[in-house]
Amino acid sequence: MNDCLFCKIYRGEIPSEILYKDEHCFAIKDINPVSPVHLLVIPSVHVTYLQIFEIEDFRVLNSMYRIATELAVTNGISKSGYRLVINQKKDSGQQVPHLHLHLIGGHKLAGIG
Ligand code: AMP
Ligand code: ZN
Repeated sequence: MNDCLFCKIYRGEIPSEILYKDEHCFAIKDINPVSPVHLLVIPSVHVTYLQIFEIEDFRVLNSMYRIATELAVTNGISKSGYRLVINQKKDSGQQVPHLHLHLIGGHKLAGIG
């Protein structure tokens, strides 16, 4: 048993509505949304970083992006647009050291490029 926030949510030790779950990952609402739609797609196994030696099974990434695009449809933002973000380590501002994909949308997003 580890002390990781997202592992605790997965194990049901911290209450959170699980919006989606399959054999690779699950999705929840971000507790501090930055946009009208702000969901997190999270691998069920504890993976900290997006590094080749951390991820034994890269199907998890495929699953994360597939679920995010499905959630964009079910949350009504697939036509208006959205952003998918994975923060990695200190300079990105990553707060939770368990890999996760942010799905953000529902309004006009500031440009990053
Ligand atoms: P990151 O900065 O990429 O590590 O993102 C971590 C995200 O987890 C932040 O957007 C937080 O708002 C979110 N978060 C923190 N605690 C919870 C929680 N208990 N339930 C849902 N989201 C959370
Ligand atoms: Zn974890």
